Amino acid sequence: MHRYSPSGAVPIAGGLMTVAGGLFAAAAMAFVYAFIIRWIPFIYLNFLATLGFGMGMGIVITMLASMGKIRSPLFVRFTWLLTLLFGYYVYWGMTMWAHGAWQLGLQVFMPRAVIMFAGYLFENGSWGLKNGDPVTSWFLVAFWVVEFGVLAYFSYIMAVANIDQPFCEQCNEWTETEKGVALYHATGLEPEWDKIRLGEFQSLVQLPLLSASLSEYVRMDVNACPKCTNSNFLSIQKVKTAIDKDGDESTKESALIANMTLSGDQLAQVRLLVDQAADAAAEAAAARTLELEEAEKAQQAAADDGNGFPPIKVE
Ligand SMILES: [Zn+2]
Repeated sequence: MHRYSPSGAVPIAGGLMTVAGGLFAAAAMAFVYAFIIRWIPFIYLNFLATLGFGMGMGIVITMLASMGKIRSPLFVRFTWLLTLLFGYYVYWGMTMWAHGAWQLGLQVFMPRAVIMFAGYLFENGSWGLKNGDPVTSWFLVAFWVVEFGVLAYFSYIMAVANIDQPFCEQCNEWTETEKGVALYHATGLEPEWDKIRLGEFQSLVQLPLLSASLSEYVRMDVNACPKCTNSNFLSIQKVKTAIDKDGDESTKESALIANMTLSGDQLAQVRLLVDQAADAAAEAAAARTLELEEAEKAQQAAADDGNGFPPIKVE
């Protein structure tokens, strides 16, 4: 099986835009974040702000990398790391402003000032939990570590969200994703998937399509270039949805096949097989409905005693 591998290309303008845009957005968000953390004394809202700051940095990177046509996952990860560290550092400086140290001006961004300020907070704290005593020393450091971890994790998840999107080098365009070309009533363990990996697409007809909504199924996605017929990729995802105790739905996906290269003819064959399977499933469903209707009619005829009135139910 051949699969998509990114060319690693980074257009100069796109690369500069992604790095500069990422840093600029991180600084702007760090400013807002520092003031929220300083002046809104609700831990839950603070946590949401941390989440938003992290996700925000990641979303900006993924959007700019897409606009800048960056095909290097390494470059995207590098930009993520740079943006995260820069945003986090700027946040420390901004925090001094949020504490009222305006007279320091841009000096708040000097490493010495940041270290001194961190030392001051370590000794004296700035905020407290319910009992009113400010959180200080290593307990405070633990909060900082968790905060940084949340920022790093959520910015990373968002920054690499589209890192596997295939690109058509010939047309200089991203491919478009068509999700759920077919849904299968399957677990992903079926031997047919191995055959499909080898290019035996005929095996697709042996897999039943999903006929009811289930929490576990297998989904076929296709990526194709919007301009030519030469860049086509097949992905097969195992999908598992779960509903937690708050009623929120979460979906877990794992790839059985990721961006397998297809020729134009192979893609046409796959689409035809999917259509045929869908037609066959619709026909079978119609036949089943007809059968049920006839059985019902026969039952009614048998229950009818012939006087033209509907049968009377005796309790
Ligand atoms: Zn193309």
